[in-house]
Amino acid sequence: MNDRPRGVAALEAIAAVVRPEIRALAAYVVAPADGMVKLDANESPHGVTAEAAARLAVALARVAVNRYPDGAAETVKAALRRALALPPALGLIMGNGSDELIQLIVTLLARPGAVVMAPEPTFVMYRISALHAGARFVGVPLRPDFTLDRTAMIAAIERERPAAIFLASPNNPTGAQYSGDDVEALLRAAPGLVVIDEAYAGFAQTSLLSRVAEFPNLLLMGTLSKIGMAGLRLGYAVAAPEWIEELNKLRPPYNVNSLTQAAVGALLADPGWIGQQVAAISLERRRLAAALAQLRGVVVFPSQANFLLVRVADANRLYDALKAKRILVKNVSGAHALLANCLRITVGTSEENALLIAALAELTP
Ligand SMILES: *Cc1c(COP(=O)(O)O)cnc(C)c1O
Repeated sequence: MNDRPRGVAALEAIAAVVRPEIRALAAYVVAPADGMVKLDANESPHGVTAEAAARLAVALARVAVNRYPDGAAETVKAALRRALALPPALGLIMGNGSDELIQLIVTLLARPGAVVMAPEPTFVMYRISALHAGARFVGVPLRPDFTLDRTAMIAAIERERPAAIFLASPNNPTGAQYSGDDVEALLRAAPGLVVIDEAYAGFAQTSLLSRVAEFPNLLLMGTLSKIGMAGLRLGYAVAAPEWIEELNKLRPPYNVNSLTQAAVGALLADPGWIGQQVAAISLERRRLAAALAQLRGVVVFPSQANFLLVRVADANRLYDALKAKRILVKNVSGAHALLANCLRITVGTSEENALLIAALAELTP
């Protein structure tokens, strides 16, 4: 009988077969938020309207959970095409959140030696998914004001010949939207695919959606997560149909479950409530930015998204102090050198934002 603790034996078995770069990772931890004012995850603070909730209930009650989902999800795709006013000539694929689509894209392109590139700081899943797929990730620093360093990007593109470049615009966690000129310059310089991640475009002035057909190397991603439907896990990508066909080869056949398909169909059938939420959040963002800017020692960066990046004197101390007051924000100060002493604050309801401002006023005298 082997009398060593079972955990030790498991660790030996793992060491023998698990990829070393995965063993070196820590799992992504989602902060517990029970009973907190939740301003950490860029969700919408608003529930759906009573009318939308009633449609949702009817649609969910009809789902045949004994059957697999519609693998092609044609009904939902048609609803999404209508909501986005997508021209029929463009391809569309849906994912279990856009997180899954990022994985599929990187897996598709991870030939030996392939490089995945992004300006940084940005959404961490690009780096993580590249690592998972065995691709090399190259981050190119943004300027200290979080605008794109076009010269540095072009130089890095010429040096690294990336298979994929990810541009989150508006960017997370900075809130900045990249200029159309910069994006076009990168699209023309890139030897591979350029992914524009428009997770926050609903809160911005512009979108590149209407221009996807012009660029054979452009894939545009979106998600329902930031506009009131984070729990459903539905992301999408739009590109030339040829790109979508390649991605479909990697997509698990039932990646969008029946309950999500039914819910999205019901919620997009009359999407007026989404526009109302987005308008309310955008208005609240302007109010919150003005109130934060009044506080001593707080610098607010301009944002085109549903959150604000702020720089404070001591982000770790303030994060802990807010948490002690049951207010949860995202401490990004350790994520990148350019984010020193920065916190990312999701725009909440006016009541939640008032609680935050009152707490901060006390903590930054
Ligand atoms: C939140 C976020 C996503 C993730 O979206 P899901 O559809 O919820 O997986 C993608 N990209 C960026 C930049 C984000 O901030």
